[in-house]
Amino acid sequence: MPDLQREMATALKAVHAASHICATVQHNLITADSMKKKDQSPVTVADFASQAVVCSMLRLAFPDDPVVGEESSDALRNDEQKILRQSVVHHASSALAQILEGPPTEEQVLDLIDHGNGEASSQRYWTLDPIDGTKGFLRGQQYCVALALIEKGRISLGVMGCPNLPVRFGSEGGKGILMSAAVGQGTGVHTLGDLTSEIGDQNRTDVKVSNIAQAVDARFCGSVESAHSDKGAASQIASILGITADPIQMDSQCKYGAIARGDASIYLRLPTTPGRREWIWDHAAGVICVQEAGGTVTDILGKALDFSKGKRLEDNRGVVASNGRFHEQIIDAVSQVSTLAD
Ligand code: AMP
Ligand code: MG
Repeated sequence: MPDLQREMATALKAVHAASHICATVQHNLITADSMKKKDQSPVTVADFASQAVVCSMLRLAFPDDPVVGEESSDALRNDEQKILRQSVVHHASSALAQILEGPPTEEQVLDLIDHGNGEASSQRYWTLDPIDGTKGFLRGQQYCVALALIEKGRISLGVMGCPNLPVRFGSEGGKGILMSAAVGQGTGVHTLGDLTSEIGDQNRTDVKVSNIAQAVDARFCGSVESAHSDKGAASQIASILGITADPIQMDSQCKYGAIARGDASIYLRLPTTPGRREWIWDHAAGVICVQEAGGTVTDILGKALDFSKGKRLEDNRGVVASNGRFHEQIIDAVSQVSTLAD
């Protein structure tokens, strides 16, 4: 089994740095006024700065690995975007200065963003969502930086930086975690505040899925946005399974984090249109965190997710993640909902 030690250390460091940039942007640029105007620029700035920083660290450590990221610099290159471009450089600057051994130029930042336009190769590639849950980010709620390594179509490592996720579910205490998993090595959590450049196992806490044994006692989690998952179908499934607990609704792959550490036991992502296929970067990091914590993840037909088909999960429909104790029963309940038939 590959030990993936260097890959994990690099991914943790990269996601940690990007998470701090996103948290700073969310804190400083989102104001009551920007929310009222539905101004998208804070998320644009954080998205691009996050991708540039993660790519800089991956390129330095693994120059031959393609990175398949969600963003490309095209949108920033035209002249009208000058202010945004400067803001991206400003926010990425101090993290990049350490990697590039000096402050970055605009061109270097744009070039780093485009390092994330690689192809999903059949051998080995990284996939990055520099901000997953952009709507949550703009509402001041949950979002995450999600990075995963795929080898021969299988996820071998994933890291999620979740700056707003409470360190302990339901507690008013601290917030901000990094959740990570590598194949055969379990799932662990670091608090975002604690993590120093000396990343080791000493400040990692192992997490496991819930041990709820019966579907009726389970709690769902799902998207906030109705366009991203069919909420009507989810409530039909809850009623078939006899579930009465209120679902946890949140944006981003933080939902996989909630399943991996037992805050909830079922995450349903139910296609709202028949032809919809999911992006790989919206799932890879979260999926391995759930699997390594003892859970099960399939599509809505019960098929394993196949990350060897390019940028989308072309051979899969939707996602069902659970603590693994009654997965078949959930798939059976999904099959009874006629609106989900392709
Ligand atoms: P969530 O945070 O669960 O609402 O999911 C956020 C992700 O949903 C984004 O990163 C988008 O890539 C993805 N997305 C956008 N439109 C759709 C759609 N119609 N169905 C499923 N996912 C979508
Ligand atoms: Mg996303």
